[in-house]
Amino acid sequence: MKSTALITGGAGFLGSHLCELFINRGCKVICLDNLLTGSKDNISHLNKKDLEFIKHDITKPVKIAGKIDYVLHFASPASPVDYAEHPIKTAKVGSLGTHNALGIAKAKKASFLMASTSEIYGDPHEHPQVEEYWGNVNSIGPRSMYDEAKRFSEALTMAYHRAHNLDTKIVRIFNTYGERMQINDGRVVPNFIYQALKGQNITVYGNGKQTRSFCYVSDLVEGIYRLLLSDYNLPVNIGNPTENTILDFAKVIIKMTGTKSRIIYKPIPVDDPKQRCPDITKARKLLHWEPKVDLEEGISRTTKYFRSKIK
Ligand code: UDP
Repeated sequence: MKSTALITGGAGFLGSHLCELFINRGCKVICLDNLLTGSKDNISHLNKKDLEFIKHDITKPVKIAGKIDYVLHFASPASPVDYAEHPIKTAKVGSLGTHNALGIAKAKKASFLMASTSEIYGDPHEHPQVEEYWGNVNSIGPRSMYDEAKRFSEALTMAYHRAHNLDTKIVRIFNTYGERMQINDGRVVPNFIYQALKGQNITVYGNGKQTRSFCYVSDLVEGIYRLLLSDYNLPVNIGNPTENTILDFAKVIIKMTGTKSRIIYKPIPVDDPKQRCPDITKARKLLHWEPKVDLEEGISRTTKYFRSKIK
């Protein structure tokens, strides 16, 4: 009998890649999504025999019949622009939503994995970020509805692990990109590629010296899969440790797309982290995982996808 994975936010960017990976690895998938920022188009290519879609907002309780072996909680807006547009929904899905998802895992005696984030570290004073670093987060700033909800999600997940002996996993996801990101979600990868393909100015915020480390989606979901099947219950960073300034990243996009677009500078958003790079020693050691797809390859695949969406 096949294992069953319930994936909240399964019609979103990361969720849809997880649905695909679990089906490819011989599981049945229940994709639960309220389609706030996700889309059924993201899962339309998947084999319906192994995929059940339930339109539901996980901030409200739900009863699901049958056995469930894994619960992966990936529902949430994930772009700073999206969570600023949906601040209360973002705070609720990372609190009430996590509570409901944990409740399902407990009732079904399933393993639980929550999508945490590098935002846990805020604007970090330690670099690169190791899992033991507690972070530097503004609890009332414009990113706080997301950051604090994710921190609460981690706390609640550990409480279920300790109080109910639930098998729980926490993945701290660093900047990830690839096919099925929304082109207008406001994050730097879709913004720059869209601007380059349209010949528009490339909008670098601030002086562009802030850094990010970009992980291609196939690498990320492989790391998540390995973490879920591991017996490690504390948080694990999954991301690509190759760090770029945003200005250099804009130059890579310009070079790779061959665009005539020029770089312009716009004000830096409040609380925009100045540097971000995962220390992935734990993932390497515990999961024998590290990223395989380099930036050029990943950006070329992603650009191809966005090109097909724009035309
Ligand atoms: N950024 C930028 N231009 C854009 C969009 C984003 O310079 O059009 C910068 C943003 O200020 C941040 C980095 O790119 O420093 C990554 O932003 P993103 O929204 O992708 O996610 P974050 O890593 O901040 O959560």
